Amino acid sequence: MGIEEHLGNNILTTSLEKMVDWARKNSLWPATFGLACCAIEMIVTAANRYDIARFGMEAFRASPRQADLMIVAGTVTKKMVPAVVRIYEQMTEPKWVIAMGACASSGGIFRSYAVVQGIDQYLPVDVYVPGCPPRPEGLLYGILKLHDKILKDPFLTKKYRDQIPARRTHGHG
Ligand code: SF4
Repeated sequence: MGIEEHLGNNILTTSLEKMVDWARKNSLWPATFGLACCAIEMIVTAANRYDIARFGMEAFRASPRQADLMIVAGTVTKKMVPAVVRIYEQMTEPKWVIAMGACASSGGIFRSYAVVQGIDQYLPVDVYVPGCPPRPEGLLYGILKLHDKILKDPFLTKKYRDQIPARRTHGHG
């Protein structure tokens, strides 16, 4: 068999851009933290029944410096905003944010001066997952949507990061 035939069977051609984005989407490492009841469903998503490891995501990191995905799971109080924003800022680039559940997305049932009416007032949210709480299937669907987004944003120009609201002033918005 000639060398040319071997090459046809064993070589896969792609662009560096596609390869990097493919690797990134398949190895997201979420930051380990939860804010309220939605966090319980996030924890279940990481358990064996839903097997988040198949997406390369089982390594929830205790240090934000080792994480590139923030799943905002739960009610965000105004008092918690500085801590949440600080965690985000310590995470490695490129990084993404999922607003999990009604509270993180819009304040949910809490129409209160003490509760943030959507973490997107402070962080650039990539994907919103509806529900109170969303089931693990909902979070997994959101993660798959994030994968699509990563693939459509070659080499992560992250244009949308420039759209971080001006109110992101360490929680005193
Ligand atoms: Fe709890 Fe519902 Fe808010 Fe999630 S959306 S943190 S389940 S109240």
